[in-house]
Amino acid sequence: MGEVGVDEIMKSKIESALALLRQARAEHGDGLAYPCSFGAEGSVMIDLICRHGLDIPVLTLDTGRLPQATYDVIEAVEKRYDIRVQIVIPDCAEVEAMVREHGVNLFRKSVELRKRCCEVRKVHPLMRSLEGRTAWITGRRREQSRGRAELAPVESDPVYGLKKYNPLLDWTWDDLWSYIRSCDVPYNRLHDAHYRSIGCECCTRAITVGEDERAGRWWWENGEGLAECGLHVMSIREASGEIEGGEGI
Ligand code: SF4
Repeated sequence: MGEVGVDEIMKSKIESALALLRQARAEHGDGLAYPCSFGAEGSVMIDLICRHGLDIPVLTLDTGRLPQATYDVIEAVEKRYDIRVQIVIPDCAEVEAMVREHGVNLFRKSVELRKRCCEVRKVHPLMRSLEGRTAWITGRRREQSRGRAELAPVESDPVYGLKKYNPLLDWTWDDLWSYIRSCDVPYNRLHDAHYRSIGCECCTRAITVGEDERAGRWWWENGEGLAECGLHVMSIREASGEIEGGEGI
């Protein structure tokens, strides 16, 4: 099944992304996975994977605080491609202990507690879900932040000891939407309400014209926490010498 209605530049970007996905699959086989946050990048990546029969498992972190729109697009994707997304949830005892000590909205109290919440609800479950694997796919793009401008298509992740493949590095926001519209791909309806980076419901908001993409995440920190959830921070530091951004998981 080919993509319809895309121009030559898009065809080239699609072919490059597919080549990297195929390379990752050939090099890692069942050791490969795609942790997806079900934003626009995720919609494109899943379509590329499933349309071309790449047999790469898709997983997602259900933090317990996701917006309903994200559950809805997960269901739409499962129906469209006849797949089952692997839902990874945080350790119940760890969440209970955290909220017992700090409250349910601890992430508003300090940068430290926000990072603690991301660690318990995202980083620890991601590490568990990647146990036994040797590589993962990310949806990071160079235009998302200065910290991502220097990223390489393939990286060695010092935190998780895994290879990371970044097939969408050179895609722009407009590229994603050109693909989504052309191929009629299911997408998260929060994008229609001007959300760019989509994560937990309580920590994500729409942005206005001219605002940076990451302004929609943890905005109350005013940059103090460097808008980072911890999933990619070490790799970004290694690649560019600065800490910035996050995938939106
Ligand atoms: S994004 Fe917010 S609610 Fe979600 S894990 Fe991080 S701090 Fe917690």
